[in-house]
Amino acid sequence: MDKCDLCGGELRSGRTTLEIRYKGELVIIEDVLADVCQQCGEAYLSAETSAQLDRFLSEHHRYKPERYIPVPQYAGVPAMG
Ligand SMILES: [Zn+2]
Repeated sequence: MDKCDLCGGELRSGRTTLEIRYKGELVIIEDVLADVCQQCGEAYLSAETSAQLDRFLSEHHRYKPERYIPVPQYAGVPAMG
């Protein structure tokens, strides 16, 4: 794969930050190897990286996170005055 599915841009190997919902938690993983679209920034993981990621997610509680960050959550979009 060397073209972006979304915009047809050129893919180059690089790194991306993943924000994943896993069992009710939001997990952020930085510096993940991926093919990144030079045009829109969409990142594509290899099958191998995806498999590693799935395995990691299933046991991520065994690892100490680099840090915890607060994430704001809202119950809907309020009407703007
Ligand atoms: Zn793209």
